[in-house]
Amino acid sequence: MAKGMFVDASICTGCKACQVACKEWNGLAPEPAHFRSDAETRIVANNFTGNSYDNTGTLSATDWRHVRFIEQINQQRKGSRWLFSSDSCKHCTDAGCLNVCPVKAIERDPLGNVVIRQDRCKGVKACNKGCPYGVSKYSAVSNTSRKCTLCDDRIHNGLGTACAKACPTGSIRFGEVSELKKIADARLAQLQELGQKKANIYGYTQAKGLNVFYLLMDKPSVYGLPDNPVVPQRTQDVASSGSTIMNAMAFGLAALVSFRERGSRKKLSEKEPKVSGG
Ligand code: SF4
Ligand code: SF4
Repeated sequence: MAKGMFVDASICTGCKACQVACKEWNGLAPEPAHFRSDAETRIVANNFTGNSYDNTGTLSATDWRHVRFIEQINQQRKGSRWLFSSDSCKHCTDAGCLNVCPVKAIERDPLGNVVIRQDRCKGVKACNKGCPYGVSKYSAVSNTSRKCTLCDDRIHNGLGTACAKACPTGSIRFGEVSELKKIADARLAQLQELGQKKANIYGYTQAKGLNVFYLLMDKPSVYGLPDNPVVPQRTQDVASSGSTIMNAMAFGLAALVSFRERGSRKKLSEKEPKVSGG
């Protein structure tokens, strides 16, 4: 039975406890300092996104979770609202990242989560383009691509994900996907009865179903999610045409170059924080 998460955006308060828990558990590098002292030892602000209270802006190789802040404020200031949603890898049942990886470094675990095996990744970045959600990101420090593992090490030891554990409102729930869907359906019905006609569930149909799915309070595009994500398919499933073989050779060459670069960066990569599960 697949494990996953139900993210109920209707009760997210944007506290970012999930972002912090993710970084902490997975040993991900901290953000750059948001203040520095100048020559006269005055405190100077820097490294802010300038976008509401969002301090990271997007998912990255060291931010596997990102809480979106969406301000819907009109000129009359009536009916204004803030929407929040905690975004991460969706652990798609048809995973574009996994489909396009030329060295088979991305695997689906028995619990349904999609994991980039760091010891096999050659840093060719195919998965960065293959993910329709822009989740998988390249790290120049490790020369690999990195993303959320669904706390692979925790869930295979009977624990839930760190983000779900930390969320104070219950906006992120971890469990069996089939059970989570029952909770999501009940919550959607409740919200619609309360007049929230725009409420919808994202992830039942997209990419043949997402193991991490969302209850949204507005259209998916408002939350930066594609209405109809296009999922690239496995290269070897496409006819073994000349161009496919050429692509494979190109990837092989890139992998070889990348492997050599990796050796020369060994010292640098030793500074990379330990990543669990990936
Ligand atoms: S969201 Fe992107 S990175 Fe995550 S499993 Fe789906 S395709 Fe892969
Ligand atoms: S911990 Fe929960 S309430 Fe706080 S930002 Fe994350 S999902 Fe939202």
